[in-house]
Amino acid sequence: MPSNYPGFEYDADRETVSAAKVKALESLLIEKGVITGQTVDTVLSHFESKMGPFNGAKLVARAWVDPDFKARLLADCNAACEELGFPTGMSGAEGEHMRIAENTPEVHNVIVCSLCSCYPWPTLGLPPYWFKDPTFRARVAREPRVVLSEFGVELDDSVEIRIWDTSAQIRWWVLPMRPEGTENMSEEELAALLTPEAMMGVATVKG
Ligand code: FE
Repeated sequence: MPSNYPGFEYDADRETVSAAKVKALESLLIEKGVITGQTVDTVLSHFESKMGPFNGAKLVARAWVDPDFKARLLADCNAACEELGFPTGMSGAEGEHMRIAENTPEVHNVIVCSLCSCYPWPTLGLPPYWFKDPTFRARVAREPRVVLSEFGVELDDSVEIRIWDTSAQIRWWVLPMRPEGTENMSEEELAALLTPEAMMGVATVKG
């Protein structure tokens, strides 16, 4: 599975350049007394340990094994998050109004923020670089089948593709299909199969 969007158009040194800009900004904010030396580390560790795709994976795995929970997750994603006892703040920080779209044999869902980079942080973490790429955002709306095939997702022509504009109002994400041959797996084992890409709709889950 590609970790980067294949049509990506940024320079190869983009991460280094971005890191240098962030470091310069951080130093300036510390110098001006706006933040402390710990602030950025605290935020980063929050996204490493509390909010990330491991939360989305737990929710999807539970939905796969518990149809009633799945129904509640589809009806009210934020309420379902609260059921699983996720950390305080799951319904804040870019996750105030989350909704999940269910993949079926007939319908495949993909998320994009057509405007900028809105993303369900509590369930998927921070968006990958390519998610913000204007080329990806334009192309996935205009020619989703082509873009999906570039990601390695080949869908039958009979499968309808739905593109969800994840925005500041509603943060969409995707409930992937449970792969065949996973009937005897535990919830933890199922959660381990899930990737952020699958929960964005640019990958499928392999058993
Ligand atoms: Fe956005």
